[in-house]
Amino acid sequence: MDPTQDKVIESLLKAVSRTSMLAEGSDPELDATLQNIRTNLSKSQSPEVLQKTLQTLEPLVLRYDEQRLARAQTFRAQLLELIDSIDNLPDTQMSTKAKKQLEADIRKHWQSVSSWPELLAQSIQLVTNTLKQPPRDTKNASLLGRFFRRKSDHNLAPKSDSEIMSHVSHTLAALLANITLPDMYRDQLMDIKNALTGSKDINHLPALLDEVINLIMVAVGKTQEDLTLYLSQLNEQLASINASILANYKAQRSMSSTRKDLGETFQKHVDSTQTEVRNATDLNDLKSLIDERMQTITEAMSQFQDKMQNQEKHAAQSITQLKNKVSRMEQDATELRTNMQQKIAQALSDALTGLPNRAAYQEAIFPLLTSAAQVKQPLCVAVCDVDHFKRINDTWGHLAGDKVLRIIPRQMQNALNKESLIFRYGGEEFIIIFPMTSIDNAYQYCEKVRQAVENTPFNMNGDPVSVSISIGIAQFDGKESHDELFGRADKNLYKAKEEGRNKVIHDN
Ligand code: GH3
Ligand code: MG
Ligand code: MG
Repeated sequence: MDPTQDKVIESLLKAVSRTSMLAEGSDPELDATLQNIRTNLSKSQSPEVLQKTLQTLEPLVLRYDEQRLARAQTFRAQLLELIDSIDNLPDTQMSTKAKKQLEADIRKHWQSVSSWPELLAQSIQLVTNTLKQPPRDTKNASLLGRFFRRKSDHNLAPKSDSEIMSHVSHTLAALLANITLPDMYRDQLMDIKNALTGSKDINHLPALLDEVINLIMVAVGKTQEDLTLYLSQLNEQLASINASILANYKAQRSMSSTRKDLGETFQKHVDSTQTEVRNATDLNDLKSLIDERMQTITEAMSQFQDKMQNQEKHAAQSITQLKNKVSRMEQDATELRTNMQQKIAQALSDALTGLPNRAAYQEAIFPLLTSAAQVKQPLCVAVCDVDHFKRINDTWGHLAGDKVLRIIPRQMQNALNKESLIFRYGGEEFIIIFPMTSIDNAYQYCEKVRQAVENTPFNMNGDPVSVSISIGIAQFDGKESHDELFGRADKNLYKAKEEGRNKVIHDN
């Protein structure tokens, strides 16, 4: 193979290996196939092998699409079932218009995964609105009780709250089982499941459902669609590059046969000239014979040159095309990667405060704990919660509450050093990780944080208002699990609240 083609193949290999990196973790079989393509390409660059490896990619892309459709069907069925089961409850009145509208939306958009979070959010809105309506006759029926007692269950003893919560958790777990989540969300998923099964308070449900929607957004958001689309484009591009390589091979083969033809023509002429020269008797005859032979050979030469030039032009054109295709593929891969990085960044940050969110906390804390244990350095975690935040919302409205939530982390940040990491864990709760910091130092920082918030002059509709936070701290003991460490910090936060709020509490 000529050196230009070697270069093209090298670029092609690079593009394929980048792609396999991009797709990594989405589907084990896809990983294996891309790995296989890479290995085959590096072992042999013959078009036959390339074609074979491409054939293995094609059914995989198709299967990807089929799985997506199956998931979408289950998702649609579950949503419709959820709506129906709420509509069938005793003592509830679901708005027929809203139900019809939502069902129409589900029928229209169920196949588009990017619409799922919106559909789910709408369904939950409808369910919440329906359940918020006062009961028509049973005055004292609990909200949860009404949620899950069917019309035909009227005479049965009402189910306990924990039974009902377990029903909810199963419904949601089934929904979550339908989606593929990257490994980093496994803990978050576990947390949601634990919260669902552990909590008996229906007031926690909306927040948990929000988290479920977030996870679904992450799992089935556009990134997955991008990847599927990209894979099918990649498949087409690889196929067309394969065709170009084959054409190039054919052109080369025909070039070498042209050379062979010329060689044979020469040989024939030389042979017959030798014989005729040997048999010639007259010098003039000999001269004209040689002239004639020279003429024929010159013609053959110039025909050969034309033919070669033509073929070289074709070969050069097809190599240029090949290069363009490969560079387009590389460009696509880069774009997709940037796109995915942006989406990952979005999924890890909180829209209101701009702080890294709970998922980002989960990503950060585990490696930090591992390295703290390895290097035997201290590490502290502080759980911070705004005091009486509900009152702020109730008195000055939700927007004022949001403003407070945006200002507080800035004040906190000013009181901390660069090494400390702040996350918005949820609602009005923030977590600070203090790497390489002992409990005494962490306590001093938290005191500064507490004072900074206390001294911030918040202004609500022209009235000065003071806001405070309570903080619980715990130091990692080098052996305990994350949940144990977090549990101790959370317990201290609880103590701080009990002891009158606006306090920092740590162990011993
Ligand atoms: P405590 O001192 O015991 O922590 O009392 P609290 O009122 O702060 O605690 P509670 O957990 O009862 O209330 C937290 C409130 O925070 C309830 C919820 O409506 C509100 N909240 C959660 N997230 C947001 C948000 O993003 N914006 C606003 N404005 N309010 C939020
Ligand atoms: Mg709270
Ligand atoms: Mg609070």
